[in-house]
Amino acid sequence: SKRDEATNAVITEWTRTQKNIQYGKRTSLSMKEQRESLPIFAMREQIVKTIKDNQFVVIVGETGSGKTTQIVQYLYEEGFTKNNGDHIKMVGCTQPRRVAAVSVAKRVAEEVGLKLGETVGYTIRFEDNTGPNTAIKYMTDGMLEREALNDPDMKRYSVIMLDEAHERTIATDVLFALLKKAVVNNPQLKVIVTSATLDSNKFAKYFNNCPILQIPGRTFPVEILYTKEPETDYLASALDSVMQIHMLEGPGDILVFLTGKEEIDTSCEVLYERVQQLGKSVGSELIILPVYSSLPSEMQSRIFEPTPNGSRKVILATNIAETSITIDGIYYVVDPGFVKLNVYDSRLGMDSLMVTPISQAQANQRSGRAGRTGPGKCYRLYTEESFQKDMQPNSLPEIQRQNLAHTILMLKAIGINDVLHFDFMDPPALKSMVAALQDLFVISALDSEGSLTSLGRKMADFPMEPALAKCLISLAEYGCSDEIMTIVAMLSVQTVFFRPKEEMKAADQRKARFHHSSGDHVTLLNVYRGWVSSGHGHGSQWCKQNYIHERSMKRAQEVRRQLTQIMKRYHQPIILCGNDFNKVRWALCAGFFKNSAKRDNSGNETNYKTLIGETPVVMHPSSALFGKKPEYVIYHTLLMTTKEYMHCATTVEPQWLVECAPEFFQAVDTNERQKNEKIQPLFNRFTKDQNSWRLSNQKKLRR
Ligand code: ADP
Ligand code: MG
Repeated sequence: SKRDEATNAVITEWTRTQKNIQYGKRTSLSMKEQRESLPIFAMREQIVKTIKDNQFVVIVGETGSGKTTQIVQYLYEEGFTKNNGDHIKMVGCTQPRRVAAVSVAKRVAEEVGLKLGETVGYTIRFEDNTGPNTAIKYMTDGMLEREALNDPDMKRYSVIMLDEAHERTIATDVLFALLKKAVVNNPQLKVIVTSATLDSNKFAKYFNNCPILQIPGRTFPVEILYTKEPETDYLASALDSVMQIHMLEGPGDILVFLTGKEEIDTSCEVLYERVQQLGKSVGSELIILPVYSSLPSEMQSRIFEPTPNGSRKVILATNIAETSITIDGIYYVVDPGFVKLNVYDSRLGMDSLMVTPISQAQANQRSGRAGRTGPGKCYRLYTEESFQKDMQPNSLPEIQRQNLAHTILMLKAIGINDVLHFDFMDPPALKSMVAALQDLFVISALDSEGSLTSLGRKMADFPMEPALAKCLISLAEYGCSDEIMTIVAMLSVQTVFFRPKEEMKAADQRKARFHHSSGDHVTLLNVYRGWVSSGHGHGSQWCKQNYIHERSMKRAQEVRRQLTQIMKRYHQPIILCGNDFNKVRWALCAGFFKNSAKRDNSGNETNYKTLIGETPVVMHPSSALFGKKPEYVIYHTLLMTTKEYMHCATTVEPQWLVECAPEFFQAVDTNERQKNEKIQPLFNRFTKDQNSWRLSNQKKLRR
C-alpha cells in the first residue's frame, strides 16, 4: 500500500551522524542505593548549606539527576520542617503539571517509607491529599498561586521549590514575582528555583543575584538521526519508526513524543494491531503504554515498572515526558517535533489548543531522554535544516501567549492593583494585559476604573475560568447554582462520552438519549443525573451500557463535592432549579455572552458567526445541537482544528443577551412586535472599535 511505501521511504531515509552504539547493563538497587547513586547525592551538603545561607538559590541539573525527589527530602532530613515544636513548616515543591505532582509525591512517599498523604502529600486542583503532619508537599504551581490569596507571605512554608522553572507556565512566572515579594515580609522563607535547562544567569539576576548550583550531569551520548525529507504525516512516520526500531534495533525501551490523548490512544491501537500482524516473526514482545495527564494513575505507574526480560516497552507520551517525569531504560526516542500548546488567539479572544513546532531547546531535552541509562538514539522526524532554520531556540513563556484574565483576577485579588507594573520576569505585552482587563470588566469582575469588584473578589476564590465562576456565584437569584455546579464539574473533567471506533454508532445512539433540546450543557447535566440515579458507584453496568467513562463520572463527582465545599465556605447559596432549565441557560448566558454566535444563513452551509468579532464558526458534530440550527447560541470554548468549532453550546434567547449585558448588546429591530428579536453588539465596546475603550481606560487602569 501507499503507507507501506512511505514506511520504507522513511526507514531508508535516515541520515546517520554517528555509529556503533553500545548498551549499558541494567542493575537492580535498593531504595537507599538508588537514592545515593543519583548525581545530586554528591552535592547534598553543598545544597543544604547554600539554602541555609541564602534566600534564593537556582539549581540546574539534567532530568533524572534527582532534583524533584531528593532536594525536598534533604531539607526534611536536615530539620527544615521543624518549627520549634510548633506547627510544621512545610517544604513545598511546585510542578507545572498535575500528573508530575502526583507521581513524584508517590515516589517520594515510597522513598520515605510512609503512606502518601501523611509526611508526604500533594495538592492539585480539586484534590487535596495532605494531612496535618504533611511536611513535604508537592503541588501544582496553580495551587500555590491560589494559596497566595490567603497567605501572600507563605507563612506555612520554610522552603518553596519552584520546579521545572524552564517551563515558564503563567503560574510559575507569577510565583516568581509573588515569592520575591514574600521573602521581604517573611525573611525565614527560602526559595529554590530548579530546572533541567535554564538560562541560569537570567534567573539568578532576577532573584537578587542569587547563587547558582550546577548538578554535574551523567548522560551518555545520543546519536541524532534526522529525516532527509520533511515528513508530511508525522504520526504515520512516528509509528513506522517505532516498528523499525522494534524489528531492527537492539534491546532498550522506546519513548515517542506525541501531542495529545486522542493521538496517543489511536496510535496505541494502531501499534497493537501491527504487532499482532507481525505475530511470532519478531522474537520479543512489544509492551505499548500511553502517558498523558488525564491517564488514571494506576495506568501511569505501569510506565515505571521495569520491562520484563525479553520484551520491549514503547511509551507514547505527551510533552510530560520531556522533563517532568523520568522513565528509566529508554534507549530510543522518536521525536516528531510537535507539541500541543494553549495559545491565546487575540482575534478570537480565546485560548485554543494548537499543535505547534517545538523549540530547539525542547528537541534537545527530548533527545536527552535516550541517554540516561546508556548511549541511545533519537529519531527526529524532521530535517536537520528544519531544526536549524525553522525552530526557535527557546519557546515563548506561556505568559506571553495566553489569555491573562484569570491571572490578572488573581493578582488583583491578592492586592496587586497595578498589574501593568508587576515585577514579571518577562512582562506580557501591554496589549494582552489590557485585553485581559477588558475581559474582566466585561464580566463585571472589574469596574470601569480597573478595580476589583466584590463580585470579582468572589470569582477569584473559585479555581476555574472567571466566566464559569460568574455563572456559579453571581446568579443566586436565578436559583440554579446546584445545577451549574454539576455542569462546571462535568466541564472540568475529560470527556465523559466513550466512543470506541468499532461501536461509534451504538455509542452515538446512546449519547443521543441524553441530548437536551437546549444543547450540551443540560445534556451533561442529564448524564450526571442519570448516573446518580443509577446509584453512583454501583453504576459500572450503567456506564458500560451508556458508553460513559465511569472514571470521568467519579472525578466529576469529586469536583462537585469540592465545589460544594467552596460554595459553603464562601456562603454562596446552593439552590436547585429542578427542571426549569431556562434558569440554567440564563446563568450560562450571563457568564458566556461574550461567546455568543448567531446562525449565518448567507453561505450554503449552516454556519455561525460570533456576535462579537463576526468570526465564522461551526457547530461541532458531537454537539446535541448539531443539525438543529438554532439561531442564537453561546459556547464554552472554540476548538480550532480544521475549522473553528464551537464546543459545548447551548441555545439562548436573543433578548437574554441584551438583559445579561445591556452595555454590550442592544435590540435593533424597531418593529414593536418583534422587539428584541434581533440584536447586535455595541461595537464601540468591542473588537471593531475596542481601541477607543482601551485607550480611554488605559490611563485609569494604570493607576
Ligand atoms: P529530576 O527532578 O532531576 O529530573 P527526579 O528527582 O524526578 O529527577 O528523579 C530522580 C530519579 O528517581 C530518576 O532518575 C528515576 O530513576 C527515579 N524515579 C523518579 N520517579 C520515579 C518513579 N515514579 N518510579 C521509579 N523511579 C523513579
Ligand atoms: Mg524533576
